[in-house]
Amino acid sequence: RKRCMVCRPGRTMSEGKLIILSGPSGAGKSTVIRQILERHPDFFFSVSATTRQPRGGERDGVHYHFITPAQFEGMIAGQALLEYNHYASGDYYGTPAEPVRRVLDRGGTVLLDVEPNGAFQVLEKLPQAVMVFLAPPSLAELRRRLESRGDTPPDKVEARLKQAHWELAQAPHYTYLVVNDQVDVCVAQVEAILQGGPEAAACRYENQSEVEILKEVLSHAV
Ligand code: ADP
Ligand code: 5GP
Repeated sequence: RKRCMVCRPGRTMSEGKLIILSGPSGAGKSTVIRQILERHPDFFFSVSATTRQPRGGERDGVHYHFITPAQFEGMIAGQALLEYNHYASGDYYGTPAEPVRRVLDRGGTVLLDVEPNGAFQVLEKLPQAVMVFLAPPSLAELRRRLESRGDTPPDKVEARLKQAHWELAQAPHYTYLVVNDQVDVCVAQVEAILQGGPEAAACRYENQSEVEILKEVLSHAV
């Protein structure tokens, strides 16, 4: 049993699994996570706190805890967050530490959807975290997905695409890279990674040099 960095000093943690999924907004993280949770209802999705407005269909406490900037800053001050980030949009996003600690303590599987800054903060505290980067097949397809979701105003689409360049350039810091072209293929690959299946090796970043989106993004100075 290891010391748990999220826990209060002196506590220990059993071998719970922590999976960090990052990728640009619109890559399909929510879609993939939803399908994984349908197939594994025992997995725990860490519901983040955010100061951004809910999108149509998003429910408080399910997709996010929608809170005010003052409440968020209270959580930072109270050290209630495992990690947090002040995102390009101006909104705060963060992972409440306590639920993650509880599930890892009892040996459960936790899924985190966080952008790279947050992912690196978590990895520092919990080095056993499995880092998975979810990429869209191309920047053009990412734009199409962001526009077709219909809940992001045009200026915010541009801001998110700009952010996407930086995020995609962080992919080399992840252990695994999965391209979300066909959702079912992508879900099967993430599952193989979670379960340590033989298909997981093909998804390791170092085996993915032929992925088009990486060539597209990493060939430009970011
Ligand atoms: P994220 O959570 O990464 O911001 P979403 O899961 O909300 O992304 O997906 C963005 C949009 O793209 C949604 O409208 C979703 O239905 C769509 N989408 C997700 N995966 C795919 C895919 N493999 N092919 C086509 N559209 C997809
Ligand atoms: P969205 O507004 O599209 O739901 O999320 C925008 C970005 O915030 C995504 O890149 C998503 O991964 C990231 N995000 C969501 N929750 C958290 C969190 O708790 N912490 C951090 N650092 N990023 C988050």
